Amino acid sequence: MKIAFFSTKPYDKIFFEQENEAYGFQFNFYETHLGPHIVNAIENEEAVCVFVNDKLNRQVIEILAQKGVKLIALRCAGFNNVDLDAAKEFGIQVCRVPAYSPEAVAEHTMAMLLTLNRKTHKAYNRVREQNFALNGLLGFNIYKKKIGVIGTGKIGKAFIRIALGFGAEVIAYDLYPDKELIAAGVNYQPLDKLFEVSDIISLHCPLTPDNHYLINSESLAKMKDGVTIINTSRGNLIHTNDAIKALKERKIALLGIDVYEQEEKLFFKDLSTTIIEDDTIQLLMSFPNVLVTAHQAFFTEEALTQIAQRTLKSIAAILATGSTDHDVLL
Ligand code: NAD
Repeated sequence: MKIAFFSTKPYDKIFFEQENEAYGFQFNFYETHLGPHIVNAIENEEAVCVFVNDKLNRQVIEILAQKGVKLIALRCAGFNNVDLDAAKEFGIQVCRVPAYSPEAVAEHTMAMLLTLNRKTHKAYNRVREQNFALNGLLGFNIYKKKIGVIGTGKIGKAFIRIALGFGAEVIAYDLYPDKELIAAGVNYQPLDKLFEVSDIISLHCPLTPDNHYLINSESLAKMKDGVTIINTSRGNLIHTNDAIKALKERKIALLGIDVYEQEEKLFFKDLSTTIIEDDTIQLLMSFPNVLVTAHQAFFTEEALTQIAQRTLKSIAAILATGSTDHDVLL
């Protein structure tokens, strides 16, 4: 059985080849993302394995079907980049990895919050230059702060456990409140109330047509002056230009983003010797109170092992037995 991998990085090869010892699939690794420019290269592959920034629109899916591809295996949790209606129409199954070490993303979220707040990234550079002054490094205690968590699924819940460990008060919003979290003292509130009372807001919901640009000038106006916002979920949850305006107006005091609206042109690539044309990210990165990481929240050994294990298990079950019991979306 042949599988074509797109957006492949060296670490994908390492973890997937390690797990493939149990399966013996034939892998064809492409470094490029999957799109109309490469889809015709597919020959005799029954499955494609894709990541967050591969674009599986109707045009691509139609050609995949013509090529005999039967399965799109996402090696990630989010699936907003796949046209599920088109996949259904052309009879291609889609599976994903709904859970892989939610703690990886949750811990990175707290790392971003602590870095921004306690300015360890600046302190590191200062001390190396023998500048031992503290001016400009002032932070605040997380203890007793109100942290608003939007989306309390696997990652949101893992982040809440960490936040409660810091002694923060957690306000939450989700379409389906979690009884265990309520019992642990989490206070579910309507979204507007969360915006109004939170000192820190962390996004952990999937990107859907309903919550596109959830953070925009209107919702920002409802927030406390000096709010901290962390987004490790999906870039399009934040209207970036509205966030920039709010940073200039000091409405947002600290902004941490591991995901960005236009990230597919930038993230996962070494662009250190090129001119970046995206003025918005350049402006964002120029703010001293903004921390950008390049979609690395998932990037732990445990998560990569689980992604490879679960993806290959699903591919084997779906293609060999037709089973629809393995993380199948369609
Ligand atoms: P999950 O499905 O376990 O939880 C998502 C939660 O969000 C659910 O409880 C759901 O009810 C809730 N939700 C859905 N729509 C909502 C809305 N409009 N408002 C509020 N809540 C809503 O998913 P998860 O595993 O916790 O992952 C959450 C998201 O994190 C993923 O969709 C993905 O976008 C992102 N993610 C990012 C990385 C990274 O490396 N940065 C890695 C994995 C996942």
